[in-house]
Amino acid sequence: MRYLITGGAGFIGSHLADALIARGDEVTALDNLATGSLENVRHLEGNPAFQLIVGTILDPALVDQLMADCDVVVHLAAAVGVKWIIDNPLSSIQTNIRGTEIVLEAANQHKRTVLLASTSEVYGKNGHGPLSEDDDRVVGATSVSRWLYATTKACDEFLALAYHREKQLPVIILRFFNTVGPRQTGQYGMVVPRFVKQALLGQPLTVFGDGQQTRCFTDVQDAVRCVLALADTPKAIGRIFNIGGSQEVTIQGLAERVIAMTGSTSEIVYLPYEQAYEKGFEDMRRRVPNTTRLRETIGFAPDSDLDTILRRVIDYFQK
Ligand code: UDP
Repeated sequence: MRYLITGGAGFIGSHLADALIARGDEVTALDNLATGSLENVRHLEGNPAFQLIVGTILDPALVDQLMADCDVVVHLAAAVGVKWIIDNPLSSIQTNIRGTEIVLEAANQHKRTVLLASTSEVYGKNGHGPLSEDDDRVVGATSVSRWLYATTKACDEFLALAYHREKQLPVIILRFFNTVGPRQTGQYGMVVPRFVKQALLGQPLTVFGDGQQTRCFTDVQDAVRCVLALADTPKAIGRIFNIGGSQEVTIQGLAERVIAMTGSTSEIVYLPYEQAYEKGFEDMRRRVPNTTRLRETIGFAPDSDLDTILRRVIDYFQK
């Protein structure tokens, strides 16, 4: 089968391309290289099963042409990273809303299966225990830029579900929870690559807020396995799935672990949110996925432990 991966030179996209090619599928990666990078797919250069198209999902003719040539599309191209979103609000909205509409419309024209990347951000400030797919979204004011990510991805989900209901387009929605691994950059805000880099350079680890907020980090390889299994499961169509790890950790605890695992002499410093991001910034205190639906549908859920995940990231940065 030929897969079109929008955002195929990005962090998750490039790992997905590797896994698809390893199992004998073909991949066309469409990427504008805004946050993706040629480095992520350099090792696939010259592989006949892989082609990279440098272009944008905002180009309807290009998307239509690539859609015609593929069997399944995994739509990962999006503005990502809290820092990136805050620094680039306008292009983030355009990419996430107009871009997704163009991809879904082309998929509908050619009746292709769509796996749409969404995010745990859509739950917003709902911090009540493990979050299930049908739980409420609690997002803040429009004056707080962070919420535009949650809101645009929620619009993407509505759009995909509407195409499914009204046009019978086969769509599967993937809500990724803090996916981490090699090739992820800390440039756009992601905490794990930032802490690992700071620790290896002997710089202070910058914990934002009081460090008591929690996350469940998800190994990118686990996430990719889930995506492939969902793509091959007809009963997944028309549904939303949390894709997230099970080990909850505070950000302070994460910083301490990174320091211990790297043997770093770095200290931890605490930065107020408004200094780290912008005035009025709001964070979520707790973000834990309920992955019952995923387990019931494909038989497994991400289960790599945090130390294994961190070890892979540390090894990557050390290389
Ligand atoms: N964070 C931090 N220091 C950093 C980057 C992020 O303390 O250098 C915090 C951030 O405020 C959040 C958590 O780490 O509470 C995870 O941040 P990330 O941007 O990786 O993902 P998010 O869960 O916010 O989407």
